[in-house]
Amino acid sequence: MPEKFDAIVVGAGPAGIACAYELAKAGVNVLLIERGEYPGSKNVMGGVLYRKMMEEIIPDFHKEAPLERPIVEQRFMMMDKASAVTFSYKGMEWAEEPFNNFTVLRAKFDQWFAAKAVEKGALLVNETVVLECIVENGKVVGVRTDRPDGELRADVVVLADGVNSLLAKSLGFHKEFRPDEVALATMEILKLDKKIIEDRFSLEEGQGCTIELFGDATKGILGTGFLYTNKDTLSIGVGTLLSGLIKHKIKPYELMEYVKTHPMIRPYIQGAEPQEYLAHLIPEGGYNSIPKVVAAGVLVVGDAAQLVNAIHREGSNMAMTSGRLAAETIVAAREREDFSEASLDEYRKKLMGSFVGQDMKKYKDSTHHFDKFPQYFEQYIPMMNKAASQMLTVDGSSKWEKQKKIWQDIGPAKQKFKIARDLFRAWKVMK
Ligand code: FAD
Repeated sequence: MPEKFDAIVVGAGPAGIACAYELAKAGVNVLLIERGEYPGSKNVMGGVLYRKMMEEIIPDFHKEAPLERPIVEQRFMMMDKASAVTFSYKGMEWAEEPFNNFTVLRAKFDQWFAAKAVEKGALLVNETVVLECIVENGKVVGVRTDRPDGELRADVVVLADGVNSLLAKSLGFHKEFRPDEVALATMEILKLDKKIIEDRFSLEEGQGCTIELFGDATKGILGTGFLYTNKDTLSIGVGTLLSGLIKHKIKPYELMEYVKTHPMIRPYIQGAEPQEYLAHLIPEGGYNSIPKVVAAGVLVVGDAAQLVNAIHREGSNMAMTSGRLAAETIVAAREREDFSEASLDEYRKKLMGSFVGQDMKKYKDSTHHFDKFPQYFEQYIPMMNKAASQMLTVDGSSKWEKQKKIWQDIGPAKQKFKIARDLFRAWKVMK
């Protein structure tokens, strides 16, 4: 007889671990299966972990979790080829308990988080690939793994197997994602002395900073780059929609090299030694790409459900919240002894009513809008840089003359009208 559990969670990323943790805490006999050597070994993230959603699972986690730095400043660089207009917010309220967000290295963080789920009673099995869900009479009743005698049964299976979930696809929940629904990101972890990091980023001891890069960081292709401070490393990365890479015939590593040698970025990473090179897909199709997330005996959480807010680079928090809500639903379904689709649909309702569903809805057309109208990244960011250079260069011409020149440089009335229309459209898709 195959082994039977109350619940099986596939994938030990933030979504799966959060779900397994909450289930084990509620006394549910849960098995967490991870294909990697250990949780975090296969996972990639720029590195911003959001306190609030993690605290909803483990209050005061920051006192013991392997965190890198509390983020006290977030900068946004609108880059042209040799310039950047930078916005920033730095707040000392973020430097004190309970802090705001933290940078993390997933290989360390996921291992710690999974160990907490095990402490609560979850059974973690690494180096095991779930090949398919077992479906009987229209209900998921377990999984088949690559282990000998690898059939396992459960009342409910949670798919937390990340972006491009092959398991959800094989259940018919979604088709192969299109190249304009997923981004490909590459990142590097670079070793740099702690004190040098603090000096270069104007930080006090132990504090952290994030820089998001727009425009020329991706050679104008829709996407973003990032540079984050860890304890004694920097995380640098760049990601664009797959469709953008295909259209512009650019290889991801070429973009990475381009960012690293960009004059606005080079000084930050000078002398830093490459430690790790990683690449991963990010689900960026938004609200309209969310697949079916519930069926009889099965729930889909995190990246597997396409829950990423690309505009605010939030993914891990949505993953954790979806995992937690799935666990809550399973606990209630157990009490009812009902794992039918109608019973588990409670999860979808909770998810859509939470900040996850609401934010996905808010930005539902944004990726496609910016993909369809490339002028925002290709033309308007360089234009913004040119205007800043004009206005801030003291060359003897009056500020009125400068304003006039900037206005003329924008182009004829038709072009000005087009920009005004684009700005209005951008406001509409983001409002
Ligand atoms: P994952 O973390 O991908 O975990 C899925 C797990 O399932 C993996 O461990 C995998 O090995 C396992 N698995 C898959 N298939 C199987 C199988 N068949 N059998 C067994 N195990 C399986 N989000 C943020 O919040 N902040 C950021 O700064 C940020 N930056 C990012 C930067 C980059 C470059 C990338 C790629 C993503 C970034 N994200 C960020 C997004 C974030 O990483 C994801 O949203 C988050 O990891 C999703 O968690 P998850 O648990 O759903 O999936």
